Amino acid sequence: MPPIPDRLRRRQTELSLGARDERMAQLASEEFDLLVVGGGITGCGVALDAAARGVTTALVEARDFASGTSSRSSKLIHGGLRYLRHREFGMVREASVERRRLQELAPGLVSSLPFVLPVYGSAWESLRYRVGLTLYDLVANFGNTARHRRLHPAEVESTVPGLQTTGLDAAYRYFDAVTDDARLTIQVAKVAASLGAVLVNHARVTALHRQNGRTGAATVHDALTDREFQIRARKVVLAGGVWLDELLALDDPNLAPNMRPARGVNIVVPGDRLPAGAATAMTAPSDGRLVFAIPWHHRTLISTTDNPYSGDLAHPEFEMAEVDYLLEVVDHHFPRAGLGRQDVVAVQAGLRPLIAEPGKGVEDLSRRERLIHTPSGVLAVGGGKLTTYRPIAEKVVDAVIGDLAERGGNLPEGSARTECIPLNRRIDDAPVESRGGVSGLDDADYLEWAYGADARLLSGRATGADARPILPGRPYVEAEIDYAVDREMAVRLSDFLSQRLRCLLIDDDQGMAGAERVASIMGCRLGWDEHQRQQQVAAYWKRAGCYSPGKRVGGARETG
Ligand code: FAD
Repeated sequence: MPPIPDRLRRRQTELSLGARDERMAQLASEEFDLLVVGGGITGCGVALDAAARGVTTALVEARDFASGTSSRSSKLIHGGLRYLRHREFGMVREASVERRRLQELAPGLVSSLPFVLPVYGSAWESLRYRVGLTLYDLVANFGNTARHRRLHPAEVESTVPGLQTTGLDAAYRYFDAVTDDARLTIQVAKVAASLGAVLVNHARVTALHRQNGRTGAATVHDALTDREFQIRARKVVLAGGVWLDELLALDDPNLAPNMRPARGVNIVVPGDRLPAGAATAMTAPSDGRLVFAIPWHHRTLISTTDNPYSGDLAHPEFEMAEVDYLLEVVDHHFPRAGLGRQDVVAVQAGLRPLIAEPGKGVEDLSRRERLIHTPSGVLAVGGGKLTTYRPIAEKVVDAVIGDLAERGGNLPEGSARTECIPLNRRIDDAPVESRGGVSGLDDADYLEWAYGADARLLSGRATGADARPILPGRPYVEAEIDYAVDREMAVRLSDFLSQRLRCLLIDDDQGMAGAERVASIMGCRLGWDEHQRQQQVAAYWKRAGCYSPGKRVGGARETG
């Protein structure tokens, strides 16, 4: 890794988003070089890159950080085996470099994961996959954990017990990496804040304003106080994911639409019902798509479908046919597991922010990012992947700085060097040990991979009552609630249970067993009265219903 410039070292404060009301006051009173709209991985990545270069940066997020697509991905930090089929070699190469880099920058939070790819049928089919995997290694310049290799039949059973071996011609092992997407996004946001960016959640941009033909201010609605205020900035970047067309329309209602959202559905099943030692890359018998079974937080995440979508962007709903499709793929590969609808712990629908291309179906659309410059000087970024957020941010901020330079004024300092800025510790902290990871089974490592160096702070706080588990049998401790309120701007029950912890996805009842207790503790910190506390629990309960196939029958819709 290149050395970290001293100026960054000197400037970095603690990893914290700070107190929300103080940040709000700053947004309303200061003028910024850059306003970023959208607090998913793309927007937070842009804020980090810009702050690291000394660009004064504000970011506003309409809901909670990572509550959009950035908490609904397949959680893979990967080169993208699928995209070789589409000959997207440049993108796979870039993503492969990032796969390695993010493991270095966020050890534990991003960790290497072995995959087993079984091939049924002819030797010709096996050869085809072998060529693909060789190409995958080659495109990564052999920089992955290890090169792919063919497993011996005995190894197949020990690595992925229960895999269908009838008709199995070959099984290959290769490596990608896995993360917790929402936690990664929040870490990136905290690092951006530690370098001076001002980030606020539950603050929606409702209008963009021009002066002399250039967009230089935004009206923002604060959902917590129901107040509006303006933020002034020399440059505005829109990182609104699937909401990008809506945001562009605020700048100019005549701009042509760009987005073509595609819905992907993930299901979560108990980890002991499917192998946890390695992920499995399964080929869907009905259409040949790759579907992954990924060990994640003691569970197995089965991912994903890919269908065109035109409904409500904030609350994408799944269809039971999508759940059944994923279960069929699993059943084809693991018939003895006998998994059915009743075993599904959670279902999550997410929307890929894809850029439309004439004549192409969603499966064939490129996952590459696109930068869109509007006549009023707004820069919008669409497409992209969780894995490649860092190079995307670099390209966006290069363009921002080019524009700011053309228009004169103080120029920011040097390059960003985000490739050497750690994500789960401060620059000068001792490296974080990564004994475990999000796919591991050892609860003792949970705080370390989730919070990095701040695990020490949490362990210190987690004495007495604060060490009490939030949910029976889960590693979460009450000290995390205070930490989330103090440092991660959790201001609603759902912010904590769904984006800071991942209860919606991994807990049997979506974490409802702990909701009342968490609401009481958060309420004491945030000054909720009894009515507000009950409202928080009810809103979370409604949201939880959307993740549970059983409760969904009641017609729940996601809120918040
Ligand atoms: P988002 O995370 O959606 O963020 C946009 C934000 O803008 C939202 O939080 C929204 O609330 C906010 N916003 C919108 N309007 C406003 C407004 N008016 N004011 C303020 N804020 C606003 N990528 C990978 O690398 N690996 C994977 O394994 C992977 N799997 C995927 C699986 C699925 C099912 C899906 C759907 C995607 C997957 N992806 C994966 C892609 C990846 O998740 C996305 O590319 C990425 O999360 C997009 O991030 P984003 O920040 O652009 O969008």
